[in-house]
Amino acid sequence: MTDIAKQLRQIKSTLPAGVELVAVSKFHPVEALREAYDAGQRIFGESRVQELTEKIPAMPADTQWHFIGHLQTNKLKYIIGQVALIESVDSVRLLEMIDDLSAKRGVVTRVLMQVHVAQETTKFGFLPDELVDWFASRGFESLKATHICGLMGMASNTDDTERIEADFRMIADTRRRILDAAPDLRGFDTLSMGMSDDYELAIAAGSTLVRVGTAIFGSRY
Ligand SMILES: *Cc1c(COP(=O)(O)O)cnc(C)c1O
Repeated sequence: MTDIAKQLRQIKSTLPAGVELVAVSKFHPVEALREAYDAGQRIFGESRVQELTEKIPAMPADTQWHFIGHLQTNKLKYIIGQVALIESVDSVRLLEMIDDLSAKRGVVTRVLMQVHVAQETTKFGFLPDELVDWFASRGFESLKATHICGLMGMASNTDDTERIEADFRMIADTRRRILDAAPDLRGFDTLSMGMSDDYELAIAAGSTLVRVGTAIFGSRY
C-alpha cells in the first residue's frame, strides 16, 4: 500500500458515520490524486481555478471536485457545471454571479457560505451576524439555480485548543441561528470544518465535512 493509501485509510477509520472527507489536493500532482482515487477517495478539494481545470480532465469522470479557495468572479465561467460543491462563497455578489451563470447554463450549483470567525484578518468570509441577517431577510429566496447546502469555516491558526474549539462552536452556532431565522430552509445540513491539525476538534463540534490535505498527501512545497 502507498503512503497516501495508508494515511487515507487511517484518517477514514477515525471518522464517525455521517462525516465525509474532502482530500485537499492543491499543489499536489495528479499522480498523488490518482493514488488516493485508487484507494477509494472520490471527493477532492482544490483552491485555484487554473490548477483545478488542469486536473479535471486528468482524473476519472466520477471524481467529485470541491472548490475551497477564494473565487474571483472573472474565473467563475471555468468552474460552473464542473464542480460538485463551491465551499467558499464569501460575498453576496459572488453568490449572485454563481446563480446567474448556473441558470444560464442550465445547471444547479451547490454551495456553502464561508463564515469568518478566525483571528486572522486575511481570511475571507461573512461575519456570523452578517450571514444570519442575510438569511433572516430571505436573500436566498431569489436564487434560481443555486442550492445553499450549509456553511464552511476555518478556526484560528493557533495551538490554543480552547480558541480552536470556540471558533468551531461559533460556526456551528451560526448554522443553528440561521435555521432559527429561516426555519423553512431545506438541505442546509453541511458544516464543513476541520483540517489536518484540527479535524478531530471540528468533528466534536459538529462538523459533517472535513477538508484534509497535509495529513493525506504530505506537505505542500
Ligand atoms: C489548504 C486548505 C485545507 C487543508 O489544509 P491542511 O492543513 O493541509 O489539511 C483545508 N481547507 C482549506 C480552505 C484550505 O485552503
